This record gives sequence, C-alpha cells and structure tokens, in this order.
Amino acid sequence: MHPESLMMTHGYKPELSEGAIKPPVFQTSTFVFKTAEAGKAFFEVAYGLREKADQEELGLIYSRINNPNLEILEDRLALWDKADQCAVFESGMSAISTVLLEFLKPGDMLLYSRPTYGGTDHFINHFLKEIGVESIGFRPDHSEEDIAQLIEESGKADKLSLIYIETPANPTNELIDIVMCRRLADRFSSNAKKVYLATDNTYMGPLWCSPLEHGADIVMYSATKYLGGHSDLIAGAVLGGDEVMQRIKVLRTFLGNMASPHTCWLLLRSLETLKVRMEQQARTAERVAQYLMKHPKILKVYYLGCLPKDSDAYSLYKRQYTSPGAMIAFEVKGKEAEAFKFLNSLKLVKLAVSLGSTESLGQHPATMTHVGLDPEIKEFMGINERLVRLSIGLEHEEDLIMDIENALRQV
Ligand SMILES: *Cc1c(COP(=O)(O)O)cnc(C)c1O
Repeated sequence: MHPESLMMTHGYKPELSEGAIKPPVFQTSTFVFKTAEAGKAFFEVAYGLREKADQEELGLIYSRINNPNLEILEDRLALWDKADQCAVFESGMSAISTVLLEFLKPGDMLLYSRPTYGGTDHFINHFLKEIGVESIGFRPDHSEEDIAQLIEESGKADKLSLIYIETPANPTNELIDIVMCRRLADRFSSNAKKVYLATDNTYMGPLWCSPLEHGADIVMYSATKYLGGHSDLIAGAVLGGDEVMQRIKVLRTFLGNMASPHTCWLLLRSLETLKVRMEQQARTAERVAQYLMKHPKILKVYYLGCLPKDSDAYSLYKRQYTSPGAMIAFEVKGKEAEAFKFLNSLKLVKLAVSLGSTESLGQHPATMTHVGLDPEIKEFMGINERLVRLSIGLEHEEDLIMDIENALRQV
C-alpha cells in the first residue's frame, strides 16, 4: 500500500492498549520484563552481543533504548523513504551531529556541499575541526572532475570517509546531483574503507525526493520542518539500510539523544496529514511564485518551478525531484531597507525563520539564517541584502497573494 494509507495504523496494535484507536503517550521510563530470561534476551540484542533471530522482536527495555511511541514513529517514517530502519532524534541537529560523529574519526576527511545549514556548517568547521577531522567544501557549480581534483589535491584522498550533501541548497534552491556524489563515493572507496554518502533531505523530503533511490546511504531530516509541520516541536530523523542504522542507533543509545514519547506522539499525528499538507503547500507556492515573477518591484525569483527548460539544472531537477516544493526566495528591488519594509508590512505571513509549517513564514537570509556564512559562498549564492525567503503554508492562495501585494505596495 501507499505510505499515506498506512500512516494511521502501521506498527500499532490497539489490542495492546485497551483498544484505543490511537497510540497513547507511553510516558514511562522503563518496562517490566515477564521473566529474567526475557530481560537477558532483550539486552543481548540491544547491545549487539548476538544477531536477532528470525521473527524475534527487540523487547521493550528502557525509554532511552526504545519506547512504543518512538518505535511506531520510526516504522512509519521508514515507509516514505523505503528505508530498512529509521532513528528519531530530539532535533535535526542532533540527528546530523550523531551521523557525523559515527562516520568520522580523528584523522578522517569529510567532503561536504556548501552552503549547508548554519548549524551543520558550524559543527563541521568548529567541533569536527578541533577533534582533527578535516573537511573540504564544494559548491553546486563544481563539476564531478573539479570535486575529484579537490580531493586529490588535499593529499588525504585515502582518508575520505563521508560525503555530506544538502540539496536543494537553502535559500536559493541550487541543486546537488546525488547520483554524481554516489559515483564519487564509490571512486574513493577501497576494500579497507567504504566512503558513505549522507543527504540532508529536509527541504524536499520525504515526498518529493528519495535520496536512497538515487544511491545515498543515509537520509537525514529536521523533523521540525515538514514532518512535524505545525511549528510546535523540535525533532530529527535518520534513515538508511540495516548496517548503517545499527551503528547510528548504538551511538544514539549512548548519547541519549532520542526524541521523547510526547514529541513522537505529536509527530505521529503530523504524519497522518503529511501528504495532503505538502501537496497543498506546493500547489499554493506555484501560484505565489507565478504572481511574484510578474511583479514590477521584484528583480528575481528563485523557485525550482521556473528553471529554464533547456538548462542542466532543469534536467537534474526533473531527475531528482517530483515537485518544485514550497520554498520561494526572491529579490525585492532596492536594498536592505526595501526588503525589511516588505517583511515588516506582511500581516498574514509571519516574520520568522524555519519552514515547512502550516503557516507561511518570511525571513531575510542575509541577516538571519545565513548571517554566519562565508562571504565567498554568500556572494556565489546571491544571498544579498535584497533577498527574502518565503515558506508557503496552508492559507488560501488569494489571501497570501493579497498580503504580499499589500506589503510590496509599501516598498
Ligand atoms: C532546520 C534545519 C536543520 C536543523 O534542524 P533542527 O530541528 O532545528 O535541529 C538542519 N538542516 C536543515 C536543512 C534545516 O532546515
């Protein structure tokens, strides 16, 4: 069946919870074992002392290791990305930093796409650097051969352990080719060392892009965004095959950064409407983008739905995505004062960072989400003082366009 058909029921047995149609919040720290032998068997599997037997399920032990709300959520999330397993975290950053820590050790090298989310960039260039993990950043305009050359020239090609990408790049929707990154990972893998490929799919997933199908080993989400979708929680998720997920789940057990039962419960509710929300948001975004493209006070619109059909970016977009998404960036004619005037004049659209929620949000990347970016990358990406980013929510398109029109009139 399709994932949306299974979001209400998959992984939950009402008869184990007094017949309740919805999973209760299992607000409990620990679980009672039927026998000492059962407890022993659960621990053997949880600590990786032996493989799980056929049909054997890991029993409930302790809520840092497993909890019904966490497990039901992970089973349901795995359906969208067709992943073997999922691990849910207390934030997107927690998911990302756990992946980076598991797959990079002192002396290793990381290849990553720039720009990447500010928190990820900071973790790579401060924490990882201090523990002796070197990194090479590449831009969306670098070709496969340019990137291979960067790796060779570093003199540490044999130390490359992880390729980390975020696509589309926020906020101007530049694309990174996942298949090309897979080829690079394979090219620099050896018998002694496999190079893994991890993708932050927050912007377009899980509906409009399936990185595992394009060759990624690991997919990560800030579940705070579309998955949660109501601006009322912070969470993250990692998905992939059994081998990588086992490693990530063991590290999560010892870092203790899993999501709480209540956060998982909220996410379970959100997942039931994930598809209708995302599809409606994308439909409305298309209307808003069409309106913006014709407006005389707007210089340029960054939206995947308006890429020129004969461009390389367009063919990559068509290969990798099934929708242009619901994120739009655009330049208001003028400078910071004009962009601020526009943002300050919006009434329905709220002035806040974050994205993917039921309410539309607007913000100013150059002074807000992207303020810490390297000036070279800022320049390349066109993140200038005129640029505004919108995340389109579930309001009626006519009301959103009226709000934007009124705000532009003030500029
Ligand atoms: C928000 C976001 C993150 C960080 O997630 P949190 O849930 O805020 O920790 C990471 N990557 C992308 C692309 C994001 O938008």
